[in-house]
Amino acid sequence: MAERPDRIVVVGAGVVGLSCALRLLQAGHRVDVLARDLPRETTSSVAAALWYPHLALPQDKVTAWGKSAYEEFARLAAEGVDGVAMRTGTELLAEPTPDPWWIDAVPGLERVDPRSPYPDAWSFVTPVIDMPRYLTWLAEQVVEAGGTITRMALARLPAAPLVVNCSGLGSRVLAGDPTTTPVRGQVVVVEQVGLDEWWLAEDAGRAGAATYVIPRTTDIVLGGTDDEGDWSRTPTPEIAADIVRRAARIVPEVGQAKVLRHQVGLRPVRPEVRLERVGDVVHCYGHGGAGVTLSWGCADEVTALADR
Ligand SMILES: Cc1cc2nc3c(=O)[nH]c(=O)nc-3n(C[C@H](O)[C@H](O)[C@H](O)COP(=O)(O)OP(=O)(O)OC[C@H]3O[C@@H](n4cnc5c(N)ncnc54)[C@H](O)[C@@H]3O)c2cc1C
Repeated sequence: MAERPDRIVVVGAGVVGLSCALRLLQAGHRVDVLARDLPRETTSSVAAALWYPHLALPQDKVTAWGKSAYEEFARLAAEGVDGVAMRTGTELLAEPTPDPWWIDAVPGLERVDPRSPYPDAWSFVTPVIDMPRYLTWLAEQVVEAGGTITRMALARLPAAPLVVNCSGLGSRVLAGDPTTTPVRGQVVVVEQVGLDEWWLAEDAGRAGAATYVIPRTTDIVLGGTDDEGDWSRTPTPEIAADIVRRAARIVPEVGQAKVLRHQVGLRPVRPEVRLERVGDVVHCYGHGGAGVTLSWGCADEVTALADR
């Protein structure tokens, strides 16, 4: 059995890195986080963020990690953690659809009357995370538990008794892994118009991402796009206009809401999430469109691997 590492370096300060860092600190490790982008500058900060398994595999592990994270977010919401809420919402489906493969992770998903032109729909309560607020809270928890967060752009993984690689797309370089690729997502953040429930809609005959309307504490996130292999982080006005038009078809009030900002994030998509220990490195990256959804489940497994 390997000795318990006396110092762990976590690379990455997105939702995955910070969740791993906090769990490792809670397990009694000394933890230093190194990251090129600080929490509110990461892709994680752009996430909508609804608990929902999107662009992440394999199904069995994603369901298990997602279930753990669902339960932890429900606990955090009950504790009143800033930015974490349990919200009811509806997914409108473009065709009659069997239950989703991740149904075991979600209590109480039920069919509801579909709304024209959608032939099918289901509804469930799920965590909705206001990411800038939540990442600020997570980073504070890491520091309060004795961890450090330092800005540092790395050309390779550092030398340390144990390294946890949560660098997302950065793993193309840091883990020499070209199978991790960007899927660009653009969102429009508008003012709150008194919306409590989230909406998600698949558009029949339209290639690309579903449309979503996600209410948060003081604003609403409208999306989305899934542009594979696109590295541009510049919001496109035409795409923004299309997002608002699609969102307003589902929730008409958002069509007139004041636009607060436009944002783009590059999802770190991989054929499967990589979560494994190789010598003194635990890799945890490639969470695609579900890094928030899987965060706590993956952090628990990383912590178990650190002590292996
Ligand atoms: C528009 C949009 C909407 C989304 N909606 C949702 C949603 O509703 N629900 C959900 O679960 N997920 C959603 N996601 C996906 C989610 O944002 C990602 O899965 C998640 O952010 C991945 O987290 P991460 O910590 O692995 O990566 P990141 O947040 O990208 O963090 C990576 C970290 O590694 C650091 N790093 C990288 N390279 C280096 C280097 N060389 N040296 C030092 N540090 C380095 C970065 O600086 C950063 O700190 C959405 C994404 C987008 C873009």
